Amino acid sequence: MSEEYKVLLSEKEMPTRWYNIQADMPHLPPPPLHPATKQPIGPEDLAAIFPMGLIEQEMSRERWIDIPGEVLDVYRLWRPTPLYRARRLEKALETPAAIYYKYEGVSPAGSHKPNTAVAQAYYNKIAGIKRLTTETGAGQWGSALSLACSFFGLECTVYMVRVSYEQKPYRRSLMEAYGASVIPSPSSRTAAGREILARDPDCLGSLGIAISEAVEDAAARPDTNYSLGSVLNHVCLHQTIVGLEAKEQFAKANTYPDVVIGCVGGGSNFSGLVFPFLQDKFNGRKVRAVAVEPTACPTLTRGRLAYDFGDTVGLTPLLHMYTLGHNFMPPGIHAGGLRYHGLAPLLCQLYRDGYVEAVAVAQTDIFAAAVLFARQEGILPAPESAHAIKVAIDEALACRESGEKKVILFGLSGHGHFDLSAYDAYLAGRLEDVAYSEEELARSLATLP
Ligand SMILES: *Cc1c(COP(=O)(O)O)cnc(C)c1O
Repeated sequence: MSEEYKVLLSEKEMPTRWYNIQADMPHLPPPPLHPATKQPIGPEDLAAIFPMGLIEQEMSRERWIDIPGEVLDVYRLWRPTPLYRARRLEKALETPAAIYYKYEGVSPAGSHKPNTAVAQAYYNKIAGIKRLTTETGAGQWGSALSLACSFFGLECTVYMVRVSYEQKPYRRSLMEAYGASVIPSPSSRTAAGREILARDPDCLGSLGIAISEAVEDAAARPDTNYSLGSVLNHVCLHQTIVGLEAKEQFAKANTYPDVVIGCVGGGSNFSGLVFPFLQDKFNGRKVRAVAVEPTACPTLTRGRLAYDFGDTVGLTPLLHMYTLGHNFMPPGIHAGGLRYHGLAPLLCQLYRDGYVEAVAVAQTDIFAAAVLFARQEGILPAPESAHAIKVAIDEALACRESGEKKVILFGLSGHGHFDLSAYDAYLAGRLEDVAYSEEELARSLATLP
């Protein structure tokens, strides 16, 4: 085994195509349905809020899709990203396993999210769109889209979940520095927001509510489109650059992972890392894929596979996915990027078909893993990414028991420099494990369309 600490690719070795897993999946998920007619939607139904370039990718069955030159040029600002070998962590755990992580925190926004934000801003720009709206939870997606809009000269309006707006004021500053306007959600600017505020003036907000507001805003103006940071097929597609690079890096290091681990909110960073490896799995190669979610928002492990809305109010198409119900209000955990009721339909189908495993982990355990990781590897992880770290550590500890020399890969989807108040709470012993209430979950699932 080689002795390196990181495996790097040169700019020339950066992949120039995205991998579309729809070309290779044994079963595709059932199609999205129109929210009113409950019939499968066509491209024209999406055209009010998405550009045709993205709609085509959403429905494409082509295996490889060329990355436009202008998108590659922006990617080159921080890509290819490093693949690290966590040698110090391995030693601390006394494990015979080899632990690798693919680090997306080197992007200007600090996460994987610019991989799709840049592509989405580009396709909107060439379609003549002037302004994008979106939602953001922890602020990662909002910063990524603000950044991408500034690269392509688009206006950007971000509806930010109120609890995060209050907990993470510096994320808002970052978005504003990139030129975006940021509005706490629920807001009184949209009918969707006003309706929720009338019922609950102190509402903490949720991604589902913020999506309703952003979609309503975009649908009302012809110069404006909506942009979603996860869940949809084209978003997972854009993120595959992560896994494609990782595969090249493993080839360079002369090894291959036995298990690939990632955290799931809407499923995009996990899909981006894992889909290129699943292509090998479809061809008979042995590789496990493990999705990690919070026990406070257990979409795969406790949710139901059904058609549901992507938002709270019911404006979006119905997606066939594991869901906690579009009215589910997850507790205010610090991994805000994982507080979403649904999940990418492609990933849900792969889970259902047994290509992907899932596990849920508790908030205090992920912070313990994050701090252990930071003290060995130096990088302070985003709380979202710490879910993957926790399970990678568990795998490595199991190898210590069994003596197996497994090769473990996890996705380090972002850094935690904007999450220091959460670390503060953890280090002061003020962080608690919050669970959703069973009654609320039952009530939410009862309202599935
Ligand atoms: C947004 C975010 C996530 C969760 O979103 P996915 O679409 O599931 O990837 C995970 N990690 C970080 C750092 C994020 O910003």
